[in-house]
Amino acid sequence: MSFSIAELLAQHSEDKFELHEKHLNNQMVRVLKTIGYDRNYKRAVGQYLYDEQGNEYLDLLSGFGVFAIGRNHPTVISALQETLTLELPNLVQLDVSILSGLLAKEILTTTPENLEKMFFCNSGTEAVEAAIKFARYTTKRAKIVYCEHGYHGLTMGALSLNGEKIFREGFGPLLPDCIAIPFNDLAALEQALSNKDVAAFIVEPIQGKGVNLPDDNYLVEVERLCKKYGTLFVADEIQTGIGRTGKFWAIDHYGAKPDMILMSKALSGGFVPVGAVAMTQHIMDTVFNRMDRAVVHGSTFSKNNMAMAAGLAGLEVIKSENLVEQSATVGNDIIASLNALSTKYEFLKEARGKGSMIAIEFQAPKSLTLKAAWAMLEAANKGLFCQMITIPLFKDHRILTQVAGHGMNVVKLLPPLTLTQKDRDHIVNA
Ligand code: PLP
Repeated sequence: MSFSIAELLAQHSEDKFELHEKHLNNQMVRVLKTIGYDRNYKRAVGQYLYDEQGNEYLDLLSGFGVFAIGRNHPTVISALQETLTLELPNLVQLDVSILSGLLAKEILTTTPENLEKMFFCNSGTEAVEAAIKFARYTTKRAKIVYCEHGYHGLTMGALSLNGEKIFREGFGPLLPDCIAIPFNDLAALEQALSNKDVAAFIVEPIQGKGVNLPDDNYLVEVERLCKKYGTLFVADEIQTGIGRTGKFWAIDHYGAKPDMILMSKALSGGFVPVGAVAMTQHIMDTVFNRMDRAVVHGSTFSKNNMAMAAGLAGLEVIKSENLVEQSATVGNDIIASLNALSTKYEFLKEARGKGSMIAIEFQAPKSLTLKAAWAMLEAANKGLFCQMITIPLFKDHRILTQVAGHGMNVVKLLPPLTLTQKDRDHIVNA
């Protein structure tokens, strides 16, 4: 039998939007078309996407952070090809393979020393769901505290911790005992924890929506308060982790030591779905403590060889290409350069972020020439959390990125960590 994906693609010239409209989420097609997002990218290499005409686009979204090492990195491709040819037994959930052991060991060299154990799953949301169960079981408490405007995923547990009402409407009842407090508000946190009945506080060290940075002492104080009241401190680093912010973990900027770190997205070099929880020995020992319940939590594909191999290769690329350092240098330079431009362009309010996690906040311009661009930005923002657009404010529409919606005039940039000085010039001079 011969089966070829290349041949399949060559034989099917259907319009991709039509295919999706017919067989998948046609609401997404309608949204994308409404905002003029009709590009047909044919190829992707590193931080560049190419359309049918061979035009090159700089990707400033990198799959919401997934393609941190760029798309289709040859090291990850060859690791996956090699893994496929090794005829490994791949017992998935039951497997205690060398590969999963090595990936766990490798990740734990990057986390604070209080975290000694790894749990693997298949997505960020699954890591969040695992953390909810681990926290409740370990503390024998039910309540989970989370932050307004936070995002932890859309399954029922993660949705219960979603800081945006619009996502939650119509899906209730959600998990009971989930309490929202403002981000970066220690008094609110202390009040929420003070009854000593909260299992966990889950927080993005830097909030993805709007790229909200905490005060410098916020996360160490979170750690202190959580310890004081017997609550587990869960850092959701699904977006901020693996070098995104110019340090391996965003908590590293602040010297905080959570009880669990959740990760996904960039962890597998952008190829294979994977998620993970790094946790203390105590949490692991408490949750996985009964021989009659060895699979007290898990899922079929967790620790599968492809995910583990991609994870090992992706981390090797990050290390050998010094991408965390590059993310810090180029990203911080972009933030500073954009801020310098804000004195020249009245619509540019500020740029903020850390490393390659960048927000550009706009304000309504007074000059007529910019009013149209502003109207478009506002229209794109209406009603949706985020959308992929090619920003008309930039030269040649050649930049793919994301607008964070709900009235926020913020464009978020999550470029691959591989951005070069040339790319930086392109963004800043656009
Ligand atoms: N947590 C954060 C901070 C995220 O940014 C995301 C995804 O965007 C998730 C959780 C959910 O992860 P996933 O989409 O992999 O399930």
